[in-house]
Amino acid sequence: MSTLRLDHQAPQQRSFVAQVVGLAEWQGKRSVLLDRSAFYPESGGQLGDRGTLAGHPVQDVQIDEAGRVHHLLEVPLSIGAQVEGQIDWPRRRLHMALHTAQHLLSRALIEEGQAETVSARLGDRGCTVDLDCAQLEEARIARAEALVNQVIEDDLEVRAYFPTPEVLATLPLRRAPKVTQDIRVIEVPGFDVSPCGGTHVARTAEIGWLRVTGVEKDKGRVRINFDAGRRAKDGWVTEAAALSRLATRFTAGPLEVERAVERLARDLDAAKLQLRQLMPLVARAKAQELLAQPGPIVAMVEGDRELLRALAGLLTAGPNRVVVLGAPDQGNTSLLVARSEGLDFDCGAFLRALAGRVGGKGGGRPDRAEGKLETLDWIPGARALLPDP
Ligand SMILES: [Zn+2]
Repeated sequence: MSTLRLDHQAPQQRSFVAQVVGLAEWQGKRSVLLDRSAFYPESGGQLGDRGTLAGHPVQDVQIDEAGRVHHLLEVPLSIGAQVEGQIDWPRRRLHMALHTAQHLLSRALIEEGQAETVSARLGDRGCTVDLDCAQLEEARIARAEALVNQVIEDDLEVRAYFPTPEVLATLPLRRAPKVTQDIRVIEVPGFDVSPCGGTHVARTAEIGWLRVTGVEKDKGRVRINFDAGRRAKDGWVTEAAALSRLATRFTAGPLEVERAVERLARDLDAAKLQLRQLMPLVARAKAQELLAQPGPIVAMVEGDRELLRALAGLLTAGPNRVVVLGAPDQGNTSLLVARSEGLDFDCGAFLRALAGRVGGKGGGRPDRAEGKLETLDWIPGARALLPDP
């Protein structure tokens, strides 16, 4: 026998009393069957309700083909017992907002983008609608979002009813029903009429907000990510707080952050350019200093790999030079080994031996090698491995 659906009769009902009529299983998990239930079972892209039954947490709610609502509970209840069910209302309230928002968004996307919804999913984190088109201009999506928010603002009634077949035949349904009998219709008068068995708010203003959070293109379809209700608001609050923290760092107001970032990016470009122009000068000055060392040049240099390469080029331009240069990099050392042309010294083999001795990795050709050592204190090890001058 199918379960009497209180969630259809009175979608605002948060608690109910029912009789346990059976114990069953849903995909290997224990479930409880009741004569009536206000718990919404997962279907049509909307997740099942949570809450408690006789004080025990309801893990999930599902419906089978016979129309029996399975309440997944870890504890069995006694058949014939009268039990009280409590719906996790904030969660359900959110799902009602999300589901109604999805109806409005699907209609608005037809109005503004001639795009039909082929499937919808209301998830624990975010929601999606998949459209029957491969492309949709951002401006049209923005207009659809604005249209939904206008309908929310207008606070229209959301009617849920089971029409007679005669009445049903006259309704301008947005999509064909998925069931053949007891077809339930959700109507926002003057805006959208759609068959649906889910839970919805009673008036559009209860949705609060609709927010398109992203657009993806996948397998020839456009997917719109959205949120509504409390979750849309929470998203804005979190982002506003992040913007506010940024503004504090820039000692500016939130609306001035964009300008401040643009200024910072310009300054950074200018600084990079200046650095590129100065690099040869720095390398030449440092090379002069290092060339004063007798024998192989072993040194730690404050700078990056670019500077090491520029320096190595200058230092090995003359004959009979072996250079081992390191630059500190977060507690490690970026290392470069190079030599003058024609010299009988294998840079790659030297680097491998040094890495084996002090820890690290790297390698290269006989005339040039690069690697990373896991220490800043590698100079004594390097000197020990180098031939006597
Ligand atoms: Zn619906």
